[in-house]
Amino acid sequence: MHELRKDPILNRWVAVLKDSKSPGYYLETMPHLVGSPKSLRLSGVETHASKDSNCILCHGKDHETLEIFAIRDNNASNWRTRVIPRPSPVFRIEGDLGRKGVGMYDIMNSIGANEIIIESPSHNTQPEDMDVSQMAAVLETYRHRISELEKDPRFRYILIHKDFGKIAGELYSHPHSEVIATPIIPKGIKEELDGAKAYYYYKERCVFCDIMNEELKTGKRVIVETGNFVAFIPFAPKHPFEYWIMPRRHDCAFQGINKAEIEDLAAILSLTIKKMRSLLKNPPYTYVLHTAPNRIPRKDHWHTLGEDFHWHIEIMPVITSKSGFELNSELYILDTSPEDAAGNFRETSPL
Ligand SMILES: [Zn+2]
Ligand SMILES: [Zn+2]
Ligand SMILES: [Zn+2]
Repeated sequence: MHELRKDPILNRWVAVLKDSKSPGYYLETMPHLVGSPKSLRLSGVETHASKDSNCILCHGKDHETLEIFAIRDNNASNWRTRVIPRPSPVFRIEGDLGRKGVGMYDIMNSIGANEIIIESPSHNTQPEDMDVSQMAAVLETYRHRISELEKDPRFRYILIHKDFGKIAGELYSHPHSEVIATPIIPKGIKEELDGAKAYYYYKERCVFCDIMNEELKTGKRVIVETGNFVAFIPFAPKHPFEYWIMPRRHDCAFQGINKAEIEDLAAILSLTIKKMRSLLKNPPYTYVLHTAPNRIPRKDHWHTLGEDFHWHIEIMPVITSKSGFELNSELYILDTSPEDAAGNFRETSPL
């Protein structure tokens, strides 16, 4: 069993895998990061060039994996999206948390859920390049998995993210995203939740609604808006060209999304990804869905969550490597201003 350990100073949990990898593992799996020229580092597109005949995510390899969930059209063999357990999961579904102290330290078992969402039956076709109903099926799969996994009282947070391109940490070259349900709230998520709560206590308003209103008022950082969503570059992002998509309707939890909103979100997500691809020549990227934590195990703990938090998606192209200063200080340096980046997005046609 893998183990979760808590840093006693920062209250940050890390997962320590059971079988330690030797230094050679990093040379083998991360040649783009270890010992290769910098020019090789920005090649997200290369990993998607051809079909891998061993790919277990491809349509037709269904018998090789266990199916947790799928969306199918009327023809039962033809799935649109499919959810399978992640091979060699970091978090395992069976067992109890076994939380205990070891000397001055806290540890617990790495209990959780680790699933792969296959976003397309075709190896080389990203959902944004298909009919918009395909991206809607991907988002509906997200909604379903969060709604199911939040019923397990051992889980505190359910995080869905996508990595595109090897530099972004991609597991397979087949279009997919990953679901990870954890028995703790990851530190990065908790900081955002705490910040939103503190703002609400002070102003009695949702900070995300305020941000969206401010962005719509000035328009300087808005990329595109639809009836239900706004895509914009945040005022002080971590990465150049990072952007967020936020629903106009206040809701703390993504699971509350309705059918019309799913279709609208599918359209704005596809459009902005295609604009980013055009602007930055198909960069590796990562996106993450920030939604409310699981309220079932600690209902009384989240007094104002429904009012103070507002779900959103954060999309980050991986186009720079962070310096030691940035990694250690978390004071990020942006080579392109958010206003210029938004202007570039607005002027670019989707690829
Ligand atoms: Zn495949
Ligand atoms: Zn709000
Ligand atoms: Zn966020």
